[in-house]
Amino acid sequence: MTSKLLLLPGDGIGPEILAEAEKLLACLQADFGMGFECERGLIGGCAIDATGRPLPDETVSLARAADAVLLGAVGGPKWDQGPPALRPERGLLGIRKALGLYANLRPALLFPELASASTLKSEVVAGLDILIIRELTGGIYFGEPRGVDTLPDGSREGRNTMVYGEAEIERIGRTGFDIARRRGRRLCSVDKANVLETSQLWREVMTRLAAEYPDVELSHMYVDNAAMQLVRAPKQFDVVVTENLFGDILSDCAAMLTGSIGMLPSASLNETGFGLYEPVHGSAPDIAGQHKANPLATLLSVAMLLRYSLGQQDTADRVERAVGSVLRQGLRTRDIAVTGDTLVSTTMMGDAVVAALRADV
Ligand code: NAD
Repeated sequence: MTSKLLLLPGDGIGPEILAEAEKLLACLQADFGMGFECERGLIGGCAIDATGRPLPDETVSLARAADAVLLGAVGGPKWDQGPPALRPERGLLGIRKALGLYANLRPALLFPELASASTLKSEVVAGLDILIIRELTGGIYFGEPRGVDTLPDGSREGRNTMVYGEAEIERIGRTGFDIARRRGRRLCSVDKANVLETSQLWREVMTRLAAEYPDVELSHMYVDNAAMQLVRAPKQFDVVVTENLFGDILSDCAAMLTGSIGMLPSASLNETGFGLYEPVHGSAPDIAGQHKANPLATLLSVAMLLRYSLGQQDTADRVERAVGSVLRQGLRTRDIAVTGDTLVSTTMMGDAVVAALRADV
């Protein structure tokens, strides 16, 4: 079967890291019997330069016709002074909205070889493998009414609304249970049900859903405790599911447990399982064009694409093993290097992962 992929390199280091992903895809085609038909599209600053808009209609059409999208990164100082609607980052928000990507998956995976890069003690984080699922299209970031009003006494008042419909909670809840089933079968639902009505409804819906997933162990945790537990004993978690604002904060906290932004992949999924996959980091304009970018977050995003959109669990595991193998060999891009490591360029790292994949047959 041939899968249609849309590649969106974007700006800064985006084209460099996507070039390494293309090498990996070529290897999966040549040596592992997979079929890919890849289109390329524009998003972000390069799209503004070429079309005047950060998300051309053609990119959305190409994405809709694809089975999955792989994105590099967008943005850079060249476009920072533009009006808000003409910022590269608008392209990112636009494509998430256009494709209905409501579930954001952020794994925090710490390869044992990089345990010393974390600010936490090695024994607390070595071998960490947790997944945070954040609801991405609802909650306080989108709720109405919102705004800043001037009151009769002349003072100002800011307002945002946290709102979740039952169906929205059920949709992300099912995603959590389904994904927990494919991992360690433990799902922790994070809320603030001791204070917030939206959270009380959230907890009620999650508890009801649990009856349909008897093979998954559901637990509930208040968000303040979850923040503490993430830094105290993060390995207690398998899959965490939570609403938009809590997930925004907790996923960044979990990301830092792993020590390097160059290692973190992500996925955003819609109801059909279609997904947009991208590294968590930005376009790193400070190192663009210098062959210093770490491509591993992007290659791990390809592994997520294989797992969540193409159902290729085994091949996804192999890609992750290949990344582990190059780290065991001591190869490091500058961002994850410590004294004594072998420093490699972006392309050397990509080549090494492909070689490790070929060796693991
Ligand atoms: P950034 O993630 O681009 O860079 C932060 C630091 O991490 C920099 O020192 C950079 O060199 C380093 N870094 C990032 N990725 C790396 C990699 N793969 N290998 C080695 N080092 C890496 O964040 P920033 O500097 O705040 O933002 C730069 C631009 O990226 C801005 O225009 C911002 O809006 C944009 N941005 C885009 C996305 C996205 O496309 N998803 C996300 C965040 C920021």
